Amino acid sequence: CGIIGINGIHDASPRLVEGLRRLEYRGYDSAGIATLVNGHIERRRAEGKLSNLDMKLRDQPLSGTVGIGHTRWATHGGPTENNAHPHATRRVAVVHNGIIENYQELKDELTGHGYVFESATDTEVIVHLVTYYLDREGMTPVQASAAAFKRFTGAFALVLIFAGEHELMIGARHGTPLAVGYGDGEMYLASDAFALAPLTNRICYLEDGDWVEVSRTAAIVHDATDAVVERPVKTTAVSG
Ligand code: GLU
Repeated sequence: CGIIGINGIHDASPRLVEGLRRLEYRGYDSAGIATLVNGHIERRRAEGKLSNLDMKLRDQPLSGTVGIGHTRWATHGGPTENNAHPHATRRVAVVHNGIIENYQELKDELTGHGYVFESATDTEVIVHLVTYYLDREGMTPVQASAAAFKRFTGAFALVLIFAGEHELMIGARHGTPLAVGYGDGEMYLASDAFALAPLTNRICYLEDGDWVEVSRTAAIVHDATDAVVERPVKTTAVSG
């Protein structure tokens, strides 16, 4: 029900959890984060309160400066650790708010291609479809994401990170808000400006249908036709 992403130069995981704490007010039943550790996607997820995730991270800390976090309000699949986000393949991880309405059709297609699903969520089709475009169609992460976004129906916001890609985070807004935060040598994505308030007050709200490539220093926004577009960056009054 809340998402945050950091493409940063400092340790991501404590800041992801802090961002999720600021999204708690939306309600949630489980939480999780993923970061890139030596280029590999690593995850920690927990049922229930953020304090459970916190405890898990104390036992098994997660390093890395690029990462994503999620508080989940389950719509498809029970509120278990296994269904908690981030969902991931070897190549890509996602946090997702909302619903992929046509997930069953995509799941059947991807299962037919040999992909094995680990959760009961609608969300998991996102990572397998992007992986399909990467592995089988030889697309770049940006191409694969753009191709995948065109296949999803429903209202959603999502953030993707990719194994081996420390300079890339991709976000999409389709009926559910997503904000880009401009930091000092770092960039962020989140459900709202409040989640980012400890990190930055320079915020750009994506418009519906937009998707965005985010490096550590810049954001390239595309509209639903993939054209590059300018969206205003505003200084918000929201404070940390
Ligand atoms: N539909 C997704 C799920 O059930 C995302 C729910 C949410 O917005 O937190 O996992």
